[in-house]
Amino acid sequence: MLTVYAIEKSEIYGHGKRVVIWFSGCSLHCKGCINSHLWDKNNGQLYTAKQLFAKIKSYNDICGVTFIGGEPLEQEKDLLDLSNYICEARLDIVLFTGYELSELQGIQKEIADKAVVIICGRYVEELRNTLLLLRGSSNQKLLIKDNALKEFYANECRQVEVEITEDSVKYLGFPEDFI
Ligand code: SF4
Repeated sequence: MLTVYAIEKSEIYGHGKRVVIWFSGCSLHCKGCINSHLWDKNNGQLYTAKQLFAKIKSYNDICGVTFIGGEPLEQEKDLLDLSNYICEARLDIVLFTGYELSELQGIQKEIADKAVVIICGRYVEELRNTLLLLRGSSNQKLLIKDNALKEFYANECRQVEVEITEDSVKYLGFPEDFI
């Protein structure tokens, strides 16, 4: 089973329109982590890989799926099954992980190999930088495997997405730097 904290459709967690999945649980406990409410692996809803893929398929006009957390690679066995379903459907994967690529082995590495874009490395509070694209601290790396995507990711900036409805305003990203 996969434990998921939240699922959203978004355009700021990688290229194009994407389904973004926040996975629960992270044992890395970086100082200053903005997502510490996701450290608890029980803080979320349970899905089988098949159920989660069906949920992904219910979204229209997406080009891919973004895995974020929490630490997605700490649920690696079922995440590999989900990654296989996503790739078979010709959707691409953007992976956020607190691990360095050199730390990945076995199934975790297999999942990383399937991702077209990887944002990796621990968050280091002393190296916090609010102007970076998709990264919170300057030690973190942005790896783009598809040359056709490099231009999209060359624009180094922080993005925020705002959804306004009649009775609510919803933010994705880190709006506290902007308001
Ligand atoms: S890896 Fe990410 S979610 Fe985990 S503690 Fe570090 S910043 Fe937070």
